[in-house]
Amino acid sequence: MKRRKFIKNASLTGVGLAVGATITSCEDKNSKAGTKENKEAIANLQGLPLVIATWHVKEATAKAMEVLQSGGNALDAVEQGCRVEEANEKGQSVGKGGLPDRDGNVTLDACIMDKNGNCGSVVYLQNITHAVSVARKVMEDTPHVMLAGEGAKQFAISKGFQPENLLTEASKKAWEKWKVEAKYKPIINIENHDTIGMLAMDKNGDISGACTTSGLAYKMGGRVGDSPIIGSGLFVDNEVGACVATGLGEEVVKTVGSFLVVELMRQGKSPQEACEEAINRIVSKPNSNYKDFQVGYIAINKKGETGHYSIHEGFSMTKFQDGNNEQLMSDFYHKSS
Ligand code: ASP
Repeated sequence: MKRRKFIKNASLTGVGLAVGATITSCEDKNSKAGTKENKEAIANLQGLPLVIATWHVKEATAKAMEVLQSGGNALDAVEQGCRVEEANEKGQSVGKGGLPDRDGNVTLDACIMDKNGNCGSVVYLQNITHAVSVARKVMEDTPHVMLAGEGAKQFAISKGFQPENLLTEASKKAWEKWKVEAKYKPIINIENHDTIGMLAMDKNGDISGACTTSGLAYKMGGRVGDSPIIGSGLFVDNEVGACVATGLGEEVVKTVGSFLVVELMRQGKSPQEACEEAINRIVSKPNSNYKDFQVGYIAINKKGETGHYSIHEGFSMTKFQDGNNEQLMSDFYHKSS
């Protein structure tokens, strides 16, 4: 057997074991996943298909819903939905037009996860607009989960993605203005935020998720946030539900936020309760300086219930269900100054 094939087979076996382990743990006696009750709830699902996304991204959710309505699955929907924002040059926190790092380089992070627990991710990807699609290719066409930097870019080119300059004139101007003072401070809510995390449930009740971003504006060269880290920026467990995060990635990584939300739902919390508890874990850390940064979560469970919550006012979730595509302002933790 050739080495490459061996590695692929070996890793597929590993994946098989990992998925097996997940399913076993889903069926522990405290879990409702996989029970008769849960299966009946799924059979009676109303309001499918359903799409939710971080921030105000109605065009993206509309695209995802179009995919679902025309028979596409949840994975196709989240990929196509995220691509809308990646291509939108006006959005300065994702894809083309994203704000660069402090050296003027636009570097993208993205990941995607399907109903079977397969996932793919790219970090520090340059010159390729559709990072989410490269992440999907990593998932589907390699034995790996994550590709970084030049390797990710060369892989994308080998798959037919066209390299291009992602630094638009507007983002270059903003960076040049920033350089005058060069202060590095996370901004609590970027107006017209377009960093996008999306979760979709198709008509079969199957869930997939994706997340794509240019990360924090003016970050240090090489910085990677939560968005491409499976379990932090995104986690999907088709037996339980899914979650996606936005905001200051460092704080999400420290609490493995999206995995935490899914595990809390597994223990019986609603998506709303689970998002609130995950935010509580961040703000209640000793010496937490949560007043200075934003984190927001959105989540969905297997019954099609959704939740969204953030540290500060200003976060929102876009939800497309039963013909309504609407922006819902999120409840938040920090109510007084
Ligand atoms: N979570 C992203 C990061 O830290 C940024 C964001 O969602 O605003 O890279």
